[in-house]
Amino acid sequence: MNYLSTRGDKTPRKFCEILLEGLAPDGGLYLPEAYPQVDDATLTRWRKVYRDQGYAELAFEILSLYIDDIAADDLRAICQKTYTAEVFGTGEIVPLRHLEDGKDGGGLWLEALSNGPTLAFKDMAMQLLGNLFEYELARRGETLNILGATSGDTGSAAEYAMRGKQGVRVFMTSPKGRMSPFQQAQMFSLMDANIFNIAIEGVFDDCQDIVKAVSNDLAFKRQYKIGTVNSINWARLLAQVVYYFAGYLQATTANAEKVSFTVPSGNFGNVCAGHVARMMGLPIDQLVVATNENDVLDEFFRTGVYRVRGSADTHETSSPSMDISKASNFERFVFDLLGRDGARTRDLFGAQLSTQGKFDLGTDPAFQDAATRYGFKSGKSTHADRLATIKDTYDRHGVMIDTHTADGVKVAQAYRRPGVPMIVLETALPIKFAATVQEALGIEPERPPKFIGIEDLPRRVIDLPADAAAVQAFIAKSCA
Ligand SMILES: *Cc1c(COP(=O)(O)O)cnc(C)c1O
Repeated sequence: MNYLSTRGDKTPRKFCEILLEGLAPDGGLYLPEAYPQVDDATLTRWRKVYRDQGYAELAFEILSLYIDDIAADDLRAICQKTYTAEVFGTGEIVPLRHLEDGKDGGGLWLEALSNGPTLAFKDMAMQLLGNLFEYELARRGETLNILGATSGDTGSAAEYAMRGKQGVRVFMTSPKGRMSPFQQAQMFSLMDANIFNIAIEGVFDDCQDIVKAVSNDLAFKRQYKIGTVNSINWARLLAQVVYYFAGYLQATTANAEKVSFTVPSGNFGNVCAGHVARMMGLPIDQLVVATNENDVLDEFFRTGVYRVRGSADTHETSSPSMDISKASNFERFVFDLLGRDGARTRDLFGAQLSTQGKFDLGTDPAFQDAATRYGFKSGKSTHADRLATIKDTYDRHGVMIDTHTADGVKVAQAYRRPGVPMIVLETALPIKFAATVQEALGIEPERPPKFIGIEDLPRRVIDLPADAAAVQAFIAKSCA
């Protein structure tokens, strides 16, 4: 399997060549040259694999179709080491939970993706990435310093994935005092020598600007081997494909059955993995994109207009991990939608977005395909919807959901069909967003035992001004 860029560069690259990369050299995103096709016999075999040998073995089967430059035994060992009941809480790793019956079996289900170390779905991919990075860096005899900016879930997932890993250090900037107390406690209580928390005196945009400035200092970047783990990384996306298969296999008993997924979305990474699974032949009926008030994606799927927002236009909401101004993985889907036309994708995402801040496919015949051929639907949810949905789900089913999952459950209701199970991806546990859950229910969300008292643990974090030079000096000193 070789990989190409969405902006037309067809230089064939192998999985491990792009594993540690962000953007392709031409500014595009990496995708496989073709999606491997899963036929009926394979899907039947995978049913058994998941049931009898577990999620890790299913992951190995799927990853093997995309990775041919890691020996099979090594890849299997990496999957086995990553997806354990000990780390993810259950043998199924991503168990389905029944919420409501529906006509002819068209019930509503939750797929639990947030029982990993940081209680959000990003662990599903990041835990694998940590083990892949360690493997590949050891093989090359290299080290890597990951520099990131976070306002919550990404940073903690990266730190918990990379802690104690050979050859990797993590420098994670976050806006001082602006993450939830639980998220701060999760990150800052890590004592591992290779994890560095940097609280920046500023807002999230300042943190992102610093990461950009440091990455643009090419001499520094080379000397200190600076890398990233953001959501455009292909390996992260690939890891997420597995749980669409696992969800499907749990909800069905025969391959003639279809399911739909609703995905709380921000950067379009999670639902893009669903698109890949569907392109491989997984019988998915609809892929429903759920947004909050930051409705860049909902607007596109309704109108064909993709319009990135300025910071004044980006709302701070109670589902903050979906507060995006542009959807960084969206280019992958548009490339497929346009029949993999790299020149056109480059024109839309390179030229048009940078000069006009938007593009419009509303009158392009391909736009209709988004819904008809690719199964995409969308909807949006507001703070009031979240409160009502959290309350309704708790009152009627006794199930407590977080604010992001609530956006999913709200939007899913509009697209349920008789005979087709609707699976909503649960992207975080309620304890991570306790204040809003409390607002909806009047009670504190339950807290998994291992997180009791984390706010009182000692902390390892340095405060720095919003200044790239100060961050560079700290990195240099920490690597000495
Ligand atoms: C990151 C995140 C999302 C959005 O996922 P994308 O892949 O960016 O679309 C949704 N919910 C939670 C809890 C998250 O952490």
